[in-house]
Amino acid sequence: MTDTIDRDALRRRYREERDKRLRSEGNEQYLQPTGKFAHLLDDPYTPRVEREPLFDEVTVAIIGGGFSGLTTGARLKQAGIDDVRIIEGGGDVGGAWYWNRYPGAMCDTAAMVYLPLLEETGHMPSMKYVFAPEIFGHAKRIATHFGLYDNAVFSTNVTELAWDDDADRWIIHTDRGDAIRARFVTMGTGPLHRPKLPGIPGIETFDGPCFHTSRWDYGLTGGNPEGAPMTELAGKRVGIIGTGATSVQCIPALARDSGELFVFQRTPSSIDIRNNHAIDPEWFATLGPGWQQQWLTNFATLQTGGFADEDLVHDGWTDISKRIRDKVVQMLGEGATFGPEAMLKAYEESDDEKMTEIRARVDELVADPATAEALKPWYRQLCKRPCFHDEYLQAYNNPNTHLIDTDGKGVERIDATGVWINGVHHDLDVLIFASGFEVGTSAARRSGFETYGRDRLSLTDKWAEGMQSMHGMHVHGFPNLFIVGPSQGSNLISNITQNLTEAGTTIATILCHASEVGATEVEVTAESEAAWVALLEGSVRAFMGNPDCTPGYYNNEGGTIGRKERLNGSGYPDGPVAYWQYLDRWRNAGDFTGLAFT
Ligand code: NDP
Repeated sequence: MTDTIDRDALRRRYREERDKRLRSEGNEQYLQPTGKFAHLLDDPYTPRVEREPLFDEVTVAIIGGGFSGLTTGARLKQAGIDDVRIIEGGGDVGGAWYWNRYPGAMCDTAAMVYLPLLEETGHMPSMKYVFAPEIFGHAKRIATHFGLYDNAVFSTNVTELAWDDDADRWIIHTDRGDAIRARFVTMGTGPLHRPKLPGIPGIETFDGPCFHTSRWDYGLTGGNPEGAPMTELAGKRVGIIGTGATSVQCIPALARDSGELFVFQRTPSSIDIRNNHAIDPEWFATLGPGWQQQWLTNFATLQTGGFADEDLVHDGWTDISKRIRDKVVQMLGEGATFGPEAMLKAYEESDDEKMTEIRARVDELVADPATAEALKPWYRQLCKRPCFHDEYLQAYNNPNTHLIDTDGKGVERIDATGVWINGVHHDLDVLIFASGFEVGTSAARRSGFETYGRDRLSLTDKWAEGMQSMHGMHVHGFPNLFIVGPSQGSNLISNITQNLTEAGTTIATILCHASEVGATEVEVTAESEAAWVALLEGSVRAFMGNPDCTPGYYNNEGGTIGRKERLNGSGYPDGPVAYWQYLDRWRNAGDFTGLAFT
């Protein structure tokens, strides 16, 4: 394979394809769902029930009831901290898995490592990769198992979080008129939370029904999240804008059920093999205590270029990294000197080979040569979220399914009756936006509320030049607040939940210590925060980084990747596994270096 790739030609093609897609507006090309689209933020799954506003106090308020809030809540309960309250905008726990109920939704990370707290809850995943209803079910299982429903409030959106210095409390204002007081707050509002719309001229003029994939309207389509046929789409002309990870998963079901399906594509996704299979209960029963931690460490090690005797998960994620690692070993064996240059070369060569295979797979699976050509991704694999599917490409062999490729330009215009591409109008009865989520915008815009720390400094202002924290969790000026997410900590993007479970352990350990020493405030010192940021800035491991990539949310939509973007996407210099080892030592040392307990 290595010898047959013309790397110069490939590089040229990659640059040409990127240049077609660069847009001066960057993130500004997207719209927030307001005005005619404000309803796209509504909860179609749970009716709002009126209740009296709350003005009470809790020890720990957990903002966000997704896996971040659930794993934190679980760890707090395990540590004996009972007075916790989840505050959640959705009608139940689950976060992304509450909102995303589109047909075919599943997790691209193997369930054995993605689903948190499997041993604690005694759940066996049904398949290697599980579908959304099972993941949502697992979120509910965690909430039930750890008593996290007891004091939770749902269908409640935080509107402001403010530190009251005199009272030593956080005051949480919500759209229910609540002003809940909390000694400590954990914030797990996630990056894939707020849907965004493509800023296509005329988007507001479409007369027919339309919705965003994260608010799937089964009332309109028929069917259900379990995959029942969407009978209401029979005979309809359905259009879907976007071909990212979401679209890849729902297109096979739309192709099966729509009268005619029109897929409007700006950039094709890379589609690797899925290879899903059921988990054998007999085999599962042989796993001994501590198995999940062993699997987590194994996956994170192999996913980040480390060595292990066995690849327990063995999938597309570990394949990417193992190829790069093996290439480095091969090059060193051939006399290359170890260093950034060798690493870069190994990365490029294995990527070229992988992407050549992915393009060849399109030719194998898609019958029409022109359609196959348009479905081929011309960029490096990690420029965009890699996808894995065994029915997506084949869906284009269905005669009712039409790929409308825009050659990188995007949809030209929308009018009352459909969509224009290259001067051609496509009549539509239903329009679906698979246009993704706010990722690159400010924390306040993404979460829908502002956080004010000491002296009413807002988090947006504090982070105007990029995220500033210690461990991605502690922010100077924001005492008793714990941010839960991968950035500036472990930053393991391929398995988000591992970052969250570890964060939960950290928070529980800190709060137990605060209680032992009688501290009312826990805050990172300015010096320690600055030192952590300096450590990250010296790292080459920044997640956003390749200016040659085709635009997307992984690289600030092809815009500038300056200090701010690097800070927002950075992680511990030696990678996630080293980070967790460091964190474990930090937690166990008992002095929590960098934090002031007062
Ligand atoms: P994405 O942001 O990945 O995709 C948005 C799509 O809309 C892209 O194909 C984009 O094209 C397209 N688009 C935007 N504007 C226009 C336009 N004007 N005309 C035509 N097309 C346009 O959103 P997704 O919801 O697909 O995925 C978001 C993330 O959610 C994923 O990256 C992943 O992290 C997560 N996810 C995870 C899953 C899992 O397995 N756990 C499953 C699904 C999602 P372009 O590429 O050119 O910008």
